Amino acid sequence: MDSADFIVIGGGIAGLSAAARLAAHGRVVVLEAEEALGYHSSGRSVSFSHFGIGNAVVRALTGHSRPFFEAQPAGFCDSPIAELSPSLYFAGEEALPLLDTLETNMASLVETLEPLDAAALTRLCPVLRTGPGAAVRGFLDPTGLKLDADALLQSFARAVRAQGGEIRLGQQVETIARQSDTWTVNGAVAAPVLVSAAGAWCDRIAALAGVTPLGLQPRRRTIIAVDPGVDMAGWPFVHSAAGDFYMLPEAGRLLVSPVDEVEDDPCDAQPDDYDIAYAADRLEHYTTLKVARIAHRWAGLRTFTSDRTPTAGFAPDAPGFFWLCGQGGYGLQTAPAMAAAVESLIAGSIWPMADVRPAQIAPDRLLAG
Ligand SMILES: Cc1cc2nc3c(=O)[nH]c(=O)nc-3n(C[C@H](O)[C@H](O)[C@H](O)COP(=O)(O)OP(=O)(O)OC[C@H]3O[C@@H](n4cnc5c(N)ncnc54)[C@H](O)[C@@H]3O)c2cc1C
Repeated sequence: MDSADFIVIGGGIAGLSAAARLAAHGRVVVLEAEEALGYHSSGRSVSFSHFGIGNAVVRALTGHSRPFFEAQPAGFCDSPIAELSPSLYFAGEEALPLLDTLETNMASLVETLEPLDAAALTRLCPVLRTGPGAAVRGFLDPTGLKLDADALLQSFARAVRAQGGEIRLGQQVETIARQSDTWTVNGAVAAPVLVSAAGAWCDRIAALAGVTPLGLQPRRRTIIAVDPGVDMAGWPFVHSAAGDFYMLPEAGRLLVSPVDEVEDDPCDAQPDDYDIAYAADRLEHYTTLKVARIAHRWAGLRTFTSDRTPTAGFAPDAPGFFWLCGQGGYGLQTAPAMAAAVESLIAGSIWPMADVRPAQIAPDRLLAG
């Protein structure tokens, strides 16, 4: 039997960023079912950090994670892990109240939001339909960050290994047993602390461990990549305030999503024909572009708690079982702050955030009542 101080289940952004922190306090073993890191949600995201998504706790976690991305720790990665990239939000007449609420929420965190009239929308994104029946107003957040998800995953993994930790790929967790103060996984590795960072599968891991599930809900999101046939230089990440469309240029292609949230089971998510067609429809509805060919398509799961707030904390019904789950659509942009919270809760380091309390992200809140 191999023994460790911490076992982390899941080699996505949540598990790896937490493992990199925990490795400073003891021996970490990360168990990942797939043969590659980030095979599921973390490798399928559009990898952006912005304040236009999530509730107040998510925005706070996003804010606390920004310094890590903006001034990456020395030696963390050879290349930049984040690049400044503006976000634009627009609305037609009927969605103006949503735009105004979004702007108010974001203004408390970003002082440099820039209001945009229809002419300014066209200047920033010439293909956006504007005027009556189309976009009439918007605003620009110049502080968005495009993240490099692969560089983040690989760099956190390197940090784990550099501190003596181990990452075992192709290790599907099938059995979890608890005896006295020790968790034993697959009959092969044992530790007093077991961190479940298995994304959409976290409730299934809880079931294996005999822990009360949190009622996590995986929801599928679809992306299509198209060749727009126009120069996209300088285009921002463009979102409809109505919440049914976004697009952003990446590597010469335009990534487009209908911002779908289709309930799904934990699985290797695949795009559905209807959602692919709807993505193309939204692009043609909001812009003057025509979709002649879809070059690439994919789907991934965004897994939510009932209050859509990420969760980190020990299970109240199982000593040593630690939940790290419910990262929803913001798992990359909140990972550094969540990992610091995990370190504090498990290893006793100083709580890192004045405006987020442990109780706000504790699993207990999801089990009450
Ligand atoms: C289309 C799309 C766009 C997104 N855009 C953004 C964005 O712009 N910004 C942002 O911050 N977030 C974004 N997200 C959300 C983000 O991708 C997720 O919040 C994040 O990746 C969740 O990370 P995770 O580590 O919890 O999950 P995962 O990356 O899914 O990792 C969980 C891992 O656990 C492993 N596992 C499961 N069961 C077992 C088992 N029994 N044994 C061993 N291993 C197991 C899985 O194989 C998996 O690798 C997006 C998501 C999608 C789908």
